[in-house]
Formats: sequence, structure tokens, C-alpha cells
Amino acid sequence: METRDNRELIKKLYAGNNLLRAEWHTLLTALNGQEKEFLRSLATTVAEERFDRSVYIRGLIEISSYCRNNCLYCGLRAANREAQRYRLTKDEILECCAQGASLGFNTFVLQGGEDAAQSDEWLADVVSAIRTLYPDKAITLSVGERSAKGYHLFREAGADRYLLRHETRNDEHYSQLHPSSMSASKRRKCLATLKQQGFQTGSGMMIGSPRQTVEHLIDDLQFLEELRPEMIGIGPFIPAEGTPFAGEPAGSIETTLLLISLLRLRFPDALIPATTALATLHPAGRTRAILAGANVVMPNLSPRSVRSKYSIYNNKAASGCEAAEEIEKLEKELNAIGYRINFARGDYNKKK
Ligand code: SAH
Ligand code: SF4
Repeated sequence: METRDNRELIKKLYAGNNLLRAEWHTLLTALNGQEKEFLRSLATTVAEERFDRSVYIRGLIEISSYCRNNCLYCGLRAANREAQRYRLTKDEILECCAQGASLGFNTFVLQGGEDAAQSDEWLADVVSAIRTLYPDKAITLSVGERSAKGYHLFREAGADRYLLRHETRNDEHYSQLHPSSMSASKRRKCLATLKQQGFQTGSGMMIGSPRQTVEHLIDDLQFLEELRPEMIGIGPFIPAEGTPFAGEPAGSIETTLLLISLLRLRFPDALIPATTALATLHPAGRTRAILAGANVVMPNLSPRSVRSKYSIYNNKAASGCEAAEEIEKLEKELNAIGYRINFARGDYNKKK
């Protein structure tokens, strides 16, 4: 297609229209440099209108590196004997929250592997302790697939949000990334349950995971259109030692940034993080994501002694701007591109 036509297509997306598969295909594969820049600047304009050149911060607490699952891409998979395992106690998690509170964080994200020792009841008790200590802060969980009863317990205990990436909408591709004990339909069922129970729900996918095609990405975009998650997390796949995909190439930063801009235009109000995976692959990954339309960063609030053990993929960034205690560095980095940290809870808000 001619340049003019592709700009029309980008404007069509900006105006809130559904796109045909062929149109998504064009946006994902056929934009020239100028068109990409047009898309990126439109995406930042949309983000600025809503979020006023500010970025929400979430304190990420990695509560366990034990996992019963065997996702083929992940360094924490049960079969990885090289993985270093730890689990935080309730007191350690509460200490992380206290530190986060003193630094001004208003959202805590508790993320971990599917660790049987951190049962639904145990985690609900931790959530309720955080809720009692910090009645006004947002509590986000990201602890994988749990039963509807488990999710209900978390909600009753005071959790507000839940992150569970669908990873890939295509069933065949899902089965290439996961063992047969896991299924795409189970994942989607969990997401539907979370929505029904009133969680602000986050989903998303890795970019450039092994065997991913453009058609898979279009499936992902159409799935997100159906699910309408409040949060959308995407990051490049990064190979992890000790996994079947250790020798696979990392996903593309450019494609990830392109998708962030497309997501911003399609879901103007969504909370879209500049993910650690992007920052790991490139020092400018975080700022480039913000300038592509992302509006959230999730600095690491885990105890320093365990950070290197939560090794989902190789060389995962956890220092500098990715470290909660170095928040001034992050502030400076954002200021340098004309942005600032927004310390508010940052709930999903549909523009009136
Ligand atoms: N166990 C939980 C939370 C921890 S994993 C869960 O799976 O939801 C959090 C996210 O890390 C996953 O959703 C996945 O998309 C991402 N991830 C795992 N391995 C990765 C890798 N090798 N490269 C990039 N992202 C990865
Ligand atoms: Fe476990 Fe999550 Fe890693 Fe899968 S992605 S192995 S569920 S920690």
C-alpha cells in the first residue's frame, strides 16, 4: 500500500474502528519509517491526553521462585534444576510493603510462580494483612492459574487487580509454548473468572516467542478486543538458561514498541507497562516504551537478597531505574524525556 493509505489506516484505528485481519497485517508488517513515526507520535498524543505526560508506578514484590508449572520459555519452570528457589514469608512481604509505602508507592504487585506452599488461604491472609495496614493502596496479584474459589478468597481479602497474560490466543501456538498439562482454554477461563469477580484484569503476550507468527499476533489483538482487559502487559521474549528455549533468539524491541503504539490507539485508557523485559534488552527500552504510549513502570521492591534468584529469563534487570529504592534515578530518566512519576493509585478510568 502507498504511504497515504497506511496513514489512513492508522487514523482509522485512532478513530476507534475495528480493523480487518488484512489491515492489522499491514500495520504489523508494512509500515515504512515515516509511517511508524506517525503511529508512534499519535500514540503518545493519545497517552498524553489521558495521562498528562505522567507514568504510574507499581512496586513489584516477587514472592516466590518456586513453580509447579513447566512453561517452556520460563526460567522458573519446575524442571529447571539450575533455578535458585526462595519463597518470601508473610513478614518479609509486609516489610517490602513498608519500604514501598515509605517511598510513596500506592500499588503493590505480588507476583510469583505457582507455589503450592503459598496456598490460596495463605495468600488471602497476606492480602488481608496488607489491606488492614494500607486501606487506600491498590493490591495486585499475579500468581497464575487458581480456582474460582481461590480468586474469590483473594478478592474478599481485598485484592483489586490481577495480572495473568494469555501468552498467545492461538491454541496450537499455546501448545508449542506449554506442556500438555496446560491449556489455552483453561487460561481464558481464568481470565473470564477474574473479570466476573470484579478484578481489574491484566492480560498480554510475549513478543517474538518461539514459533510466533504475525497471524498469531493478530489473534492476540482480536482476543484483547474481546476481553477488554484494564491492563495489557507485553514484552519481548528473552531466552532463559536451563529451559528448552535457551538457544532461541530474543524477541524484537522494534516490534514490541510498534505493538505498544497499536495497543495505545486501540485501547486508549488501558494501563500499559514499559516492561522490565524491554529494559533488560536495551538501556533505552523503558523510555522508548513510554514514548511509544506506555504509561506504567513497575520497579522492583523485592528484598535485594532474592532479586537475582527470580530469574524468569537471562540477565533480568533489577537495578538502577528498575529498583524501587533508586526511584530518584527513574524520576530523572523520566524528566529527561519530559515526563514525571505519578504517585497516585492509577486505577483504570474510562475517559468520560
Ligand atoms: N507465574 C505467573 C507470574 C510470573 S511469570 C504467571 O505465569 O502468570 C510472569 C510473566 O513473565 C509471564 O506471564 C510471561 O509472559 C513472562 N515470561 C516468562 N518467561 C519469559 C521469558 N523467557 N521472556 C519474557 N517473558 C517471560
Ligand atoms: Fe511458572 Fe509463570 Fe514461569 Fe509458567 S511463566 S513456569 S506459571 S512462573
